[in-house]
Amino acid sequence: MAEKSMYERALELFPPVALRATAIGVDRGEGIYVWDENGRKYIDFASGVAVVNCGHNHPYVVQKAKEQIDKLIHGGHNVVYYQSYIELAEKILGHVGSDYKIYFSNSGAEANEAAIKLAKQVTGRPGIISFKRSFHGRTLATTTLTASNAKYRRHYEGLLPSVYYAEYPYSARTGLSDEEETARCIAQLEEIFHDLIEPEQVACMILEPIQGEGGYIVPPKSFLQAIRRICDQHGILLAFDEVQTGFGRTGKIFAYEHFDVKPDIMSLAKAIANGFPLSAMVAKRSLMDQWPAGTHGGTFGGNPVACAAGTAVFELLENGLADHAATMGSYFKAKLEKMKANHQEILDVRGLGLMIGMEFVTKDGKPDAKLVESLRSIALEKGLILLSCGVSKNVIRFIPPLIVTEEQIDEALAIFDASLEEALKQR
Ligand code: PMP
Repeated sequence: MAEKSMYERALELFPPVALRATAIGVDRGEGIYVWDENGRKYIDFASGVAVVNCGHNHPYVVQKAKEQIDKLIHGGHNVVYYQSYIELAEKILGHVGSDYKIYFSNSGAEANEAAIKLAKQVTGRPGIISFKRSFHGRTLATTTLTASNAKYRRHYEGLLPSVYYAEYPYSARTGLSDEEETARCIAQLEEIFHDLIEPEQVACMILEPIQGEGGYIVPPKSFLQAIRRICDQHGILLAFDEVQTGFGRTGKIFAYEHFDVKPDIMSLAKAIANGFPLSAMVAKRSLMDQWPAGTHGGTFGGNPVACAAGTAVFELLENGLADHAATMGSYFKAKLEKMKANHQEILDVRGLGLMIGMEFVTKDGKPDAKLVESLRSIALEKGLILLSCGVSKNVIRFIPPLIVTEEQIDEALAIFDASLEEALKQR
């Protein structure tokens, strides 16, 4: 009898929540490539959902992590300090600003939990404004914040109280101009303040500066700037969830840098350590200094090896990787836009840097999740790993490692093009 594949073994071992988006078992990775258990090579344009921004097993990150393993694997940030923890904090705050402090944890959801606990602690207010189509994690509190699919909440209702959902721009769907979209969303926010919760009762607004799981949606600058103004006006803290957008993904180290808007609080995770579990919540010094000792914490936050890897990641980003992502992003997006010109089923190509979404619709303009699903599986058969996103699952997201070259983008695009033609024939 033939040996079972990793996928077949996984089906027996894990509940549906723990089954993966693709049915391949991966054995090793290098750069933009991974190899499955049979030695077959795949181009990874999902980067473990925007995690391996420096590419799989980047030699510099591996070297720094190995050096740290030989010295100290666990310190316990509740107990002692250690060099890599201090160094990474200095690196990140050196970029964000000396008027910020940092708190390390292990996952994006955990960083968001810290963000909302800090906001509630410091303001003494109960309310939180989250945004439609947002994704902030799957712990109980972050499930409450997440407003992209009711399935995440099914049977968990009665979550965190006093969370309200505001509109987030989506001009590809509404067909409105940037100014009109901003006005529409701000008017709805004002309605929330009038009908449901007074702004003086709101601790924070939390939003992704570019929506990730919700469909790779870049809001107009005017929207984020209006949100900043409203927060300042009412003493509401502005929290940006940069879990998916951070660490060079958009062609700048953090996405907020594109919008001339600086948050009071920021959540970081995913690519922070190129695959090691690590996250962080960065917030204004004036807020962090009011967070009483012992009211929040965790055993594994800021692991020494993860922090050493994180410092290596930051060095690579500062030394040209973020700029490279911007250049490759423009190259890639221009090619995708050319594809759009020849395909009615492509509604929109959007994104910044190497965070690009392509939205598909049916002939009558409805979200086409079926096409995206078959496109993904045909591409996988041909050796290209892609993910989808969007509340209707009709957006292909392109998130290659930032080290990708023009030749590799062309290689992936050739597969993508052929897969799309095949998927359309089967439609
Ligand atoms: N915030 C955003 C914007 C995300 O994209 C994600 C994960 N997709 C999370 C939070 C949750 O991160 P984690 O899975 O590490 O908890």
